[in-house]
Amino acid sequence: MIKKANNPVPIKDILNKLTIEELDIKGKRVFVRADFNVPIDNNLSITDDRRIRSTLPTIDYLIDEGAKVILASHLGRPKGKIDPRFTLAPVAKRLQRLIGKEVLFAQDCIGAQLEGIVSRMKNGDVLLLENLRFNPGEEKNDEEFAKALARLADFYVNDAFGAAHRAHASIVGIPKFLPSAVGFLMRKEIEYLKGTVQNPVRPFVAILGGAKVSGKIGVLENLVDKVDKVIVGGGIAYTFIKAMGYEVGDSLVEPEMLDFADMLRKKLIEHNVKFYLPVDSVIAQSMEPGSETKIVTTQEIPKGWRALDIGPASAKLFSEAIQDAKTIIWNGPMGVFEMDAFSRGTFAIARTISDAYALTIIGGGDTDYAAHRAGVSDAISFISTGGGASLQLLEGKELPGIAALTDRKEE
Ligand code: AMP
Repeated sequence: MIKKANNPVPIKDILNKLTIEELDIKGKRVFVRADFNVPIDNNLSITDDRRIRSTLPTIDYLIDEGAKVILASHLGRPKGKIDPRFTLAPVAKRLQRLIGKEVLFAQDCIGAQLEGIVSRMKNGDVLLLENLRFNPGEEKNDEEFAKALARLADFYVNDAFGAAHRAHASIVGIPKFLPSAVGFLMRKEIEYLKGTVQNPVRPFVAILGGAKVSGKIGVLENLVDKVDKVIVGGGIAYTFIKAMGYEVGDSLVEPEMLDFADMLRKKLIEHNVKFYLPVDSVIAQSMEPGSETKIVTTQEIPKGWRALDIGPASAKLFSEAIQDAKTIIWNGPMGVFEMDAFSRGTFAIARTISDAYALTIIGGGDTDYAAHRAGVSDAISFISTGGGASLQLLEGKELPGIAALTDRKEE
């Protein structure tokens, strides 16, 4: 079979869990755990609603199939107390506009009054519960709280990929009491992130950057025997470079990761993985806007200077290495892209990735924002909605929120 570059692996081939389409939901109450943890400014205005939009396929499907749709999410860190700054009321309003249909908003997420509201819902009605984290039971994974949530519904659907790595009541607690399935967004995340790593079209290139080696090392370990090329840029590159014996001035280095980074580099090379590090860098003495910058080779970073972006030669080298890729996974910016002076490397790589004839996947968080700022988001095959959760999947770990769902019976 010839695999097309832009098709992920179907979920049935990689996960033995119920999916939303396998539930008989007409006229039934369906509890959807969504990730509506969107940025909201001081005037309670939503500044980026992509997380809400990405759950629309699940919500629309449930409405069309005549279910009673009960939506729940966390927002921010209210630490188990009611805090009006973290109300989901603005999300209810935005959702109403997006689906063109009334969205009821409940002041609480459990309780007799709420159960009354749910009992009066008609097929196709949509109800959003108040922030789950207003209740201390959510983050503690309290069993009584999970039971109270489960009492509201007949089925549970998890579409909150961004929260699937957390063992909270609404993620791992409710599925103990209800038949539980994967939602459409969750399915897409698993198909792209897990499916692609298990079964990539080659050459398969992983591009890693960002600030914390310790956050990315698990991904590299998991990819050792799966990828063809690894490109490391951003702050994490300088721990690898220092471990090779070079001086890196005041660049970011994680001393406790030096040995491990070196071991991993050697292991990748032993596995015949082509391993790329920056050959030049944009350096500065401080991150102050307007401070003097220079471009130097990796071997010549002076004391008192720090590398804050890959240089033009590295951008060219990395772009050449990416040219023939058929699958690309990118997590972590190539420099401090939030500042113009150190953004060119990240934007150059973002453009190269978006131009490649390949299945291209971005692993959430900062990298998503970088692609957005580079203006290439629409040309990427898939941008994950989860930062921590996408890293855990790329590390080959099981996510608690997926493991908790109901197993599919063998056909
Ligand atoms: P992470 O969460 O580990 O992906 O890190 C993302 C952050 O890494 C971004 O905010 C970047 O500003 C930062 N970053 C990227 N390259 C460097 C660098 N060379 N030095 C310091 N910080 C960096």
